[in-house]
Amino acid sequence: MSDTAMSYDVNSLEAHWMPFSANRDFKKNPRMVVKSEGMYMWDYKGGQVIDGSSALFCTPAGHGRREIAEAVYNQMLNNDYAPHFQLGHPGSFELAERVCRLLPDDFNHLFFTNSGSESVETAIKVILAYQRARGEAQRNRLISRERAYHGVNMGGVSLAGMVRNRETFGLTLPNISLIRHTWTEDQRFSKGQPKTGAELAMDLDRIAENLGGSTLAAVFIEPVAGSTGTLVPPVGYLEKIREICDKHGMLLVFDEVITGFGRMGTPFATQKFNVKPDIITMAKALTNGAIPMGGVAVTDEIYDTVTNAAPENAIEFFHGYTYSAHPAACAAGIATQKIYETEGLFENAAALEPYFLDAIFSLQDHPMVADVRGIGMMGGIEVHPEGAPGKRGGELQKKMFWNGLHVKWTGDNGIIAPAFVAERKHIDEIIDKFRKTLDQMM
Ligand code: PLP
Repeated sequence: MSDTAMSYDVNSLEAHWMPFSANRDFKKNPRMVVKSEGMYMWDYKGGQVIDGSSALFCTPAGHGRREIAEAVYNQMLNNDYAPHFQLGHPGSFELAERVCRLLPDDFNHLFFTNSGSESVETAIKVILAYQRARGEAQRNRLISRERAYHGVNMGGVSLAGMVRNRETFGLTLPNISLIRHTWTEDQRFSKGQPKTGAELAMDLDRIAENLGGSTLAAVFIEPVAGSTGTLVPPVGYLEKIREICDKHGMLLVFDEVITGFGRMGTPFATQKFNVKPDIITMAKALTNGAIPMGGVAVTDEIYDTVTNAAPENAIEFFHGYTYSAHPAACAAGIATQKIYETEGLFENAAALEPYFLDAIFSLQDHPMVADVRGIGMMGGIEVHPEGAPGKRGGELQKKMFWNGLHVKWTGDNGIIAPAFVAERKHIDEIIDKFRKTLDQMM
């Protein structure tokens, strides 16, 4: 890439306090990305880095899609911003309809947000508003799981099962209980859905029995727990969770911020696992990561109950963001959805799944590898810790980058989730560089 800008023109790195980063360490030797295109990114020294995790699971259509850039550019020239409270613009209605078409039949309503975290907060409010509107205001308790990630705002952090994300701050929302995560020792190196562990769903029933089912509003589940290392639901687990929710009259939320838009080879994970929730949160791949955007899809029953509780000329749901359904984000979203459809990218993901899973499972012979898990186009490679938990994962992430591979690491779990435009040779390159880096760190 001779035309790649091989440097960056910044006086100091101090002013930007970077998120989820070791700021002091990064600033000593910055892993600065100056260009991205297709399956690759380029660092400021000119090094080509293959993107093994679709950035942060955001870019299934690959980087630098002109169709999206042009749609945003044209939108900005034509109608750059329209307030969304009591006014509208056509893009949001078109995008909502397109997304709802990807969802089960009775999901016909989508509330726009600007991130996965905002989607989770919005879902919490929808749940509480719905329970009140149907005369069940005492249902104000939420359930989540250990090792869950539901974003970083206060509701999501309270629901999260990632201890560091909560203990740093202390204060969290009340009325939240966690059930166990689904990983068990005997699932080590299971490809696809583990055969054991479905009975862990009974934790939910136990909590309902202990706290009184009639106090429970909803349970939040990532169909595949993504950020903590790809924990795949055991066969029969999600079905049981659905049954228990029905038994106790609580709502089921699938947080599909990572699994939405084809990651499982189906439009959403709800179709892959054939289990239907009541609410689906999404973000990331909605716009191929080009412009921040998220959404919360709900069933007709939820939308009708909340909206019909207010007089027709009154606001029904006292919630919304200044940038909900921003025209530029909607333009990016529509262009992205057109790419997914015309290029058949969800089908591509499904077709690549067996090759991808074989490739990640080829790493299981490496002495540093403690576990491999995977389903769809998403895999977790866990390494044996060395020193403090997460230290080895952090070192591997840096080393991989300078070896020309980007992988998202959480603790000692590397999460591989390539774009759906990947070819087999890209999967091979990701795995080769992964193995080479493990060898160097032995
Ligand atoms: N929910 C899930 C399941 C996620 O994986 C994430 C982010 O990775 C979020 C919520 C938060 O999304 P965001 O980082 O866009 O706020």
